[in-house]
Amino acid sequence: MITGKNYIGFTPSANGTKTYKTFNPQTNTENEDIFTVATSVEIDQAVALATEAFKRFSKISGKEKAEFLNTIADEILALDTLIETYCKESGLPEGRAMGERGRTVGQLRAFAKLVEDGSWVDATIDTAQPERSPMPKPDLRKMYIGLGPVVVFGASNFPLAYSTAGGDTAAAFAAGCPVIVKSHPMHAGTGELVATAVIKAAQKTNMPDGVFSNINSSGIDVGQQLVKHPGIKAVGFTGSIRGGRALYNLAAEREEPIPVFAEMGSINPVVILPKALSEQGQDWAKTYASSIMLGTGQFCTNPGLLLGIKGKDLDVFIDVLSHEIVKIEPSCMLHPNIKSAYSKNKLRALDQEGITISAEYKTDVKPNYAQQTVLTVNGKTFLENTTLHQEVFGPFSLVVQCESEEELETILYKLEGQLTGTLIAAEGEANAYSGIVSALQNRVGRIIFNGVPTGVEVCPSMVHGGPYPSSTDSRFTAVGTQSIKRWVRPFSFQDWPNYLLPIELQNANPLGILRLVNNKQTADAI
Ligand code: NAP
Repeated sequence: MITGKNYIGFTPSANGTKTYKTFNPQTNTENEDIFTVATSVEIDQAVALATEAFKRFSKISGKEKAEFLNTIADEILALDTLIETYCKESGLPEGRAMGERGRTVGQLRAFAKLVEDGSWVDATIDTAQPERSPMPKPDLRKMYIGLGPVVVFGASNFPLAYSTAGGDTAAAFAAGCPVIVKSHPMHAGTGELVATAVIKAAQKTNMPDGVFSNINSSGIDVGQQLVKHPGIKAVGFTGSIRGGRALYNLAAEREEPIPVFAEMGSINPVVILPKALSEQGQDWAKTYASSIMLGTGQFCTNPGLLLGIKGKDLDVFIDVLSHEIVKIEPSCMLHPNIKSAYSKNKLRALDQEGITISAEYKTDVKPNYAQQTVLTVNGKTFLENTTLHQEVFGPFSLVVQCESEEELETILYKLEGQLTGTLIAAEGEANAYSGIVSALQNRVGRIIFNGVPTGVEVCPSMVHGGPYPSSTDSRFTAVGTQSIKRWVRPFSFQDWPNYLLPIELQNANPLGILRLVNNKQTADAI
């Protein structure tokens, strides 16, 4: 049942007077449930509980954490009104809701497996050499430990997989960090249902009260207070560059600055090489029409920028792309605010000099539905006008017609940091364009060959992050089990007695994990 209350640790709480409702963009009406914004006192209570919970939670075994994570997954699957609530708060179809729930549960179970295995702590041991001359060498043993209480800002475009018990939260729990979720106001009911699942799981598996809190907010005050709170040690965020940057600055201004891992905007450049255009340009145009439209373009990996070298083949590609994309029925955006941001940003692009509209869905659509648009521009104009480099979040893409290979390479180097870059090439073609490949690699976190950037696999080798502003720290990924590294710090024990060491670093290696012992990878005991 949705109560509209905050969860301060395990306790529902609604002491505030400010309330809000979620919105059904499909019916263009408000949903019924009323949510109460957390007060400063409730925020302080949540942080105090998390700080206390960290003392025990940071020390519990991988096996216990795995049980907690797997039980969260089970409890999410047991929520009977989750899919219905998700759909009415996001306008997304049931199939997408089910798929995203599957992904969320899969992520939780993947982190459970990771911590149960235990090798992720990267145990590194250099045993003592008391006889070493001129100085004896101490015994040093290093592993990752959790940072402390973490704040997670739920993402508007993934109400499950990147919100309450999404990737950031699962990774933080796996790292041994309590989590305070700043629930996204657009899907607060979905958030509350998932929060109850997390709390049930925490209680069933005997986790400390305060390991998780769910905070309601509408407006930036609550999020700012959380990020400024001295008890918070790191922040995870998915959303706009403006929001992510504001929180990053706020965290840097604190007396104790803390890391903010913000995954923000990206236009995901796609380079289509000449031979690929001439041999398979029409097929790629059809594929890209679908990719641009996927999820109403509301993916951080949406292909917002397509680049090719001017000529007949690129003209054909643009014609087919334009023809195909307007054949696809428009779909609903997440919220009227997201729709109005789309319209505003699209108009901003349309207002720029040298732009040609090559496709625009003209027929009237229902409120909150987005009319897909493809624009074209020449390379010189694009290079000179950085407004055209900005994300238009939604079903939108800009095709840049470059004069030459050199111009295309220059454009790639001038782009801001991106989550992904894609190279479309015919058999054997890529070798002749190493400059372009290098330029693309320089600007992105993941490079795709002959595919589409939409669709982010959750696995250890995934990098979902990239140079600023696609993320605030390109050294980390926000997707996949390696994302746990955002919530930990390396820690060394020097000459610590064996019986006092964490189990991962003890001589006997009771967990049988892989360790680097005196520069050799081994699972053997010492
Ligand atoms: P957002 O405006 O960045 O907000 C995300 C979350 O951060 C919200 O919970 C918001 O709180 C909070 N927030 C924003 N600015 C803040 C600040 N200065 N201080 C403290 N908290 C702050 O993103 P959104 O509302 O989800 O969507 C708006 C736009 O973001 C979209 O139209 C799109 O352009 C972009 N977006 C991009 C991606 C991507 O992956 N590239 C994903 C989602 C959204 P309140 O809502 O409570 O104010």
